[in-house]
Amino acid sequence: MNVVLLGPPGSGKGTQGALLADRLQTRPLSTGDLFREILKEPDHPLYSQVLVIKQGMLVSDDVVNQVVEHGINKPEYENGVLFDGYPRTIAQAEALDGILADVGSKIDIVVDLDVTKEVLFYRILGRMLCSNCKKIYHEEQGLSHCTACGASLIRRSDDNEETIVQRLEEYRSKTEPLEDYYKKSKAAFVTVTIDDYSLSPQEVNQQVVELLKENKVI
Ligand SMILES: [Zn+2]
Repeated sequence: MNVVLLGPPGSGKGTQGALLADRLQTRPLSTGDLFREILKEPDHPLYSQVLVIKQGMLVSDDVVNQVVEHGINKPEYENGVLFDGYPRTIAQAEALDGILADVGSKIDIVVDLDVTKEVLFYRILGRMLCSNCKKIYHEEQGLSHCTACGASLIRRSDDNEETIVQRLEEYRSKTEPLEDYYKKSKAAFVTVTIDDYSLSPQEVNQQVVELLKENKVI
């Protein structure tokens, strides 16, 4: 089963992706991890094309698609893939459909995490980050040091209202066409509204799973 997870920055997509992949017995695929793996192998056929990212340049849709194609053919993705953070554009979505069709597969489910502005603001404005291991906390926990490694907690300088609104608008303008694309496709499309900031990741996952069941997707 192949799943695409859509959600704005701060929606907890990474965490939700991991929980949902577990539940559906698929594996999350992160393009960032694939890029890092390739950079460890100078003999890799995509090495020089991926290297431009390290040099701070934007990588083309074509390279991303090739990296994904290379990635999903690995044995660990045999039972399916949960895509999080990819595709980001219609061109990438079309390419992904082609890559999957080549192996007799398709996108089965699209889960759209629709997080209200209030919840995003609460999460992002209160976000504290371990300066060493990058573990994420919230200021309401009242901690000054990381419980995992003991380093001090810091805030990201760009976690302010203005940049959140900017990041959201950028996300919406890029992703809305993608939502339409998938709504018109044969994949089951479910939207999960997250409007309560006190929900734990497990509770949100529960909501996602219940909605998939209600829609007879699983
Ligand atoms: Zn830490």
